[in-house]
Amino acid sequence: AFDVLVVGGGPAGAAAAIYAARKGIRIGIAAERFGGQVLDTMAIENFISVPHTEGPKLAAQLEQHVKDYDVDIMNLQRAEKLIPARQEGGLHEVQLASGASLKARTLILSTGARWRQMGVPGEDAYRNKGVAYCPHCDGPLYKGKRVAVIGGGNSGVEAAIDLAGIVAHVTLVEYESELRADAVLQRKLASLPNVKIITSALTTEVLGDGNKVTGLAYKDRNRDTPHQIELEGVFVQIGLVPNTEWLAGAVALSGRGEIEVDHRGETSQPGIFAAGDCTTVPYKQIVIAMGEGSKAALSAFDYMIRLPVK
Ligand code: FAD
Repeated sequence: AFDVLVVGGGPAGAAAAIYAARKGIRIGIAAERFGGQVLDTMAIENFISVPHTEGPKLAAQLEQHVKDYDVDIMNLQRAEKLIPARQEGGLHEVQLASGASLKARTLILSTGARWRQMGVPGEDAYRNKGVAYCPHCDGPLYKGKRVAVIGGGNSGVEAAIDLAGIVAHVTLVEYESELRADAVLQRKLASLPNVKIITSALTTEVLGDGNKVTGLAYKDRNRDTPHQIELEGVFVQIGLVPNTEWLAGAVALSGRGEIEVDHRGETSQPGIFAAGDCTTVPYKQIVIAMGEGSKAALSAFDYMIRLPVK
């Protein structure tokens, strides 16, 4: 059995594995796809102390850094079920899709999240070429340009307010007849001169010239008429879905499916910790995921050294 088993190999899981390994205990890390969301990212300009890097490069460096330590890396392994220890200090069990089962004294869950996609033509083709999901990450790339934000919930309206301070113009596109964001955010949005709000609009296509985004097509749901907007960027803000479906019933999840953690990164189950985009910790970012992963590893170690001597 492992002393610490990390499930998920993105920035949170890599940081957790490194911090735990530095304590000289038995560590394993199982990941469906080592690198996580970083693999799908092009330019990264907010990884503090590294002014510019690229996702696949950072993902390779994460893996190399973990390999520098004595860590059992199990890549391409999908966890399907978690059975928490029956009594405190017992072994937790993680069952993999391959049929294997891993046991560990402590667990760090770091299975991340995925952005909900619109599923319209052009969205995939222009991903990272005008289609973006993270205003904190990609907002500055659109300085002086025109963008749309898809989604009028809190994240969409927050993104529109944020982007309005950077870009030339923001069009907020909402499917329903009214925005769903908090009233205070809606008032702030309405006060901005360079924002237009379009409701009852079904986005139908991301338009482009083969290399980059040039516009957005939508249908006015009231009049059933097609429209096009010329722009350079589309920020999709229709939800971030945590990869926690496999944990239902095993640890406490929030209404949005995020793993509930305390300030030490511990879940509702003693000895099971969690970190990164799959948790309730706000602001889903690489540096935050790494910090939380490191914290969860130190908490797991603290927990272990307090277990009764066998
Ligand atoms: P993830 O990176 O999501 O990693 C999750 C890991 O868990 C993966 O290894 C995955 O394969 C694995 N996994 C999932 N389910 C299972 C399972 N059932 N069993 C086993 N393994 C599983 N952040 C920034 O700070 N700056 C940026 O510029 C930036 N740009 C971004 C651009 C894009 C296009 C995207 C999608 C995200 C961007 N982000 C950026 C956000 C950043 O990538 C995430 O905040 C960060 O990767 C979260 O790390 P994580 O380790 O919590 O999760």
